[in-house]
Amino acid sequence: MGENMNKNLRKAVIAGNWKMNKTRGEAAAIISALKPLASGANCDVVICVPFTALETAVEAVKGTAIKVGAQNVHFEANGAYTGEISAAMLKDIGAEYAIIGHSERRQYFGETDETVNLRTKAALNAGLIPITCVGELLSERQAGITEEVVSRQVKLAFAEIDAAQAAKVIVAYEPVWAIGTGETATAEQAQDACKLIRDRLCGLYGKEISDSITIQYGGSMNPKNAAELLAKTDVDGGLIGGASLKAEDFGVIIGAAN
Ligand code: PEP
Repeated sequence: MGENMNKNLRKAVIAGNWKMNKTRGEAAAIISALKPLASGANCDVVICVPFTALETAVEAVKGTAIKVGAQNVHFEANGAYTGEISAAMLKDIGAEYAIIGHSERRQYFGETDETVNLRTKAALNAGLIPITCVGELLSERQAGITEEVVSRQVKLAFAEIDAAQAAKVIVAYEPVWAIGTGETATAEQAQDACKLIRDRLCGLYGKEISDSITIQYGGSMNPKNAAELLAKTDVDGGLIGGASLKAEDFGVIIGAAN
């Protein structure tokens, strides 16, 4: 089977990462603008909203195919972890996805490859779909160690996760230098890194599983560059920050995945 046929086996997933934006009222307004734009989408559409907007978002997407996710999840089930939210709590409120290991969490909140692995396992065990992020820093790309860094992140993120569980994970390749900077990886750079990730997953779980795993690109994806990025064989969707905050822009990206 050709590589492009393999792409057809995978679910394209366009996910918005709202970061620390939108009150409940603003969330309801953007979702109502997004609904007509997402209807008939030929891909899965997910919005990852702040914890405080989860309940509003879950209510607002009822009757549509839009799914709701969180932007982090703690790895312990419960206990003395002030300020944290467990996977069971997210399930309870109706979230279906959780972004894990976003570079902003790695950079500002002490996230490590080990905690990314713990969170990915906690999400899977609770029945949430993890969107697990990997990606190199600008200095690492310039030093020519992108492959080494991304390979290590993938290996550690999937430690002690069996094949059946691994197949449920979405991996987001997000080169840190492209996040929120307006600087996008070229379609070729995105393809190369997503292919590298798939090759590493193949080494861990075999071809059938690695061919079935959705790998997104994230980093300044926008209505202008989305189609070219999403056309690449191993780019199965996008994790979108800034452009997911405007329904029209996000709608164009959803259309580009169709
Ligand atoms: C992100 O937050 O995951 C992201 C890719 O942000 P942006 O699209 O704004 O670069």
